[in-house]
Amino acid sequence: MAAPVSYERQNIQSMAGYVPGEQPTDPDVVKLNTNENPYPASPAVARALAAIDVEDLRRYPSPSAQGFRIQAAALHGLSPANILPTNGGDELLRLAITTFANRGDTVGIAEPSYSLYPVLTGIQDCSLVTIPLTADWTLPASFASDLNQANARLAFLVNPHAPTGMLMGVEQLTAIAREFRGVLVVDEAYVDFVDPGTGYDLVPAVRELENILILRTMSKGYSLAGLRFGYGIGAERLLAPMMFKTRDSYNTDYVAQALARAAIEDQAYARDTWRRVREQRAWLSSELADRGLPCLPSQSNFLLCQARDTDHARALYQFLKEHRILVRYFDLDRLRDKLRITVGTPAQDQQLLDCLDSF
Ligand SMILES: *Cc1c(COP(=O)(O)O)cnc(C)c1O
Repeated sequence: MAAPVSYERQNIQSMAGYVPGEQPTDPDVVKLNTNENPYPASPAVARALAAIDVEDLRRYPSPSAQGFRIQAAALHGLSPANILPTNGGDELLRLAITTFANRGDTVGIAEPSYSLYPVLTGIQDCSLVTIPLTADWTLPASFASDLNQANARLAFLVNPHAPTGMLMGVEQLTAIAREFRGVLVVDEAYVDFVDPGTGYDLVPAVRELENILILRTMSKGYSLAGLRFGYGIGAERLLAPMMFKTRDSYNTDYVAQALARAAIEDQAYARDTWRRVREQRAWLSSELADRGLPCLPSQSNFLLCQARDTDHARALYQFLKEHRILVRYFDLDRLRDKLRITVGTPAQDQQLLDCLDSF
């Protein structure tokens, strides 16, 4: 019997995997490439970690991370049934697609955006409709009708947008959700860094709009990317199939639940790191502009800055890397002449600027 060429399903064979940003082992690297929070997590997280006994791990954890759900619900003024804890925000994205899109269905995204969305679409064997952002990096007014035209069952939007950092308003998002016939995932991975002065808050919309699924994560705002904990916010009826059918029964572990609870409880600490990132973002953006690298107006913890051209962007990326400063370069349409730079601590950002000055 001839061996099959491959044991993979056909759509898995023909797709490419997600390529994560570089995670160097050298501790001296200034890491401004994967949008981690430059400040450590709350000291309450370290205390919660120290308090964990191996005996605590003998039994299964709360299947629904109930303690965390209650805390997150109180924070957002919702009920625990509106909160779905997941193993990182990325698990929520995967659950959304396996729960709401049949094989062969169309999934819609704006382009450019988070490159995991097309990968998940490929895994589920769905087809992708990409709707390009306009010249000024906003959504076209026809976004929802374009999705409906393509018969999309599910759409992913990221707000603040990645990789531009730009913020869409609540009215625009709710108008899209009202018109769109499928489920609208609003990926708020970076929402913690939004200036409170904008008044942005999409959470209350889930009370009226049953097709909005909001993604939140502890990875960025709470400095816990290594923990793998995120959560969905949505109408009870929207979350229920993911809560009771499609997720793993113990999708978040005991340690992650305990630490995520400690982190979300210490709002004062987290908010202080967000404020510092915002102040640093404004400063770094103006320093980069002074050096001929203007950035789009970001409400996130990163800046998308414009080099002179593609060669300049590539040369800057390489030069910084040789000096052990990592930023992100995307070899993608509209992004080849740009660098995405995570806002670091004042000292890290100064190192970046000094290096750029020596280029
Ligand atoms: C970081 C990120 C997420 C979620 O990441 P997790 O670490 O899995 O929580 C989701 N969407 C975008 C755009 C992100 O940058």
